[in-house]
Amino acid sequence: MKVLFLGSGTSVGVPVIGCHCEVCQSPDPHNKRTRSAVLVTTKSTTLLIDFGPDLRVQALRHNVVTVDAVLCTHEHLDHVAGFDDLRAFCWEREHRLPLYAGAQCIDRLKAMYPWAFVSGGYRGYVRARGICHAGRTFCVGDVEVQPVLVEHSSVETYGYVVRAGGASFGYVPDVKQMSVTSRKLLHGLDILAMDGLCFPPHRTHLCIDENIALMRELVPTRGIVTHIGHRVEHHALESYLPDFMQPAHDGLELEL
Ligand SMILES: [Zn+2]
Ligand SMILES: [Zn+2]
Ligand SMILES: [Zn+2]
Repeated sequence: MKVLFLGSGTSVGVPVIGCHCEVCQSPDPHNKRTRSAVLVTTKSTTLLIDFGPDLRVQALRHNVVTVDAVLCTHEHLDHVAGFDDLRAFCWEREHRLPLYAGAQCIDRLKAMYPWAFVSGGYRGYVRARGICHAGRTFCVGDVEVQPVLVEHSSVETYGYVVRAGGASFGYVPDVKQMSVTSRKLLHGLDILAMDGLCFPPHRTHLCIDENIALMRELVPTRGIVTHIGHRVEHHALESYLPDFMQPAHDGLELEL
């Protein structure tokens, strides 16, 4: 299984429009973050998790042309605003592209993009295939997917654990807190990527220290900080994190 971080930034991306801070002005590509999304690939299956406003650029940058299913963490626009660009993954398909998300997210997508959900629908669009239920696993090709309910803002938000060929990857880009049940589902994974928006505490996202504390509890072999804001410099964060952790950056690819 391979995991490619298509984007590693928070909702406004980095650089932030009009911002003159050191990180936004940095020429280092590690400090240029498109909106968070990942691509999980096995020998026979490709999964896209989230489709924010940078999806088109990310797909072109990494030559992503085939996707077997799309998972969505929640309805915030930095995760769903690229919905219409999912069409590019539908044109060559015989069946509609399956989309998995929580019930609230699917309702919101239906309200935002009603033409994609009309019965009979447009040929080759996505199909709201599954409503995720916390902890209930489903399979896409050779990948097993387990949705994990977490607390973030007031919207129903999921993280996902994907397993294939004995390897496990957890992805929780937006989270502030999680229940004991969810912690159990995310415990002891090979790689766990989790929200780390900024250094000061934040109302709806884990800050860096909260991320580290939770990683120490969940003990993945490798911990990744993602969904990073513009006040966090990549290399400064890299030195700040414990040895088993690292910051994500756009284009980071990990093999499990
Ligand atoms: Zn977000
Ligand atoms: Zn800035
Ligand atoms: Zn969010």
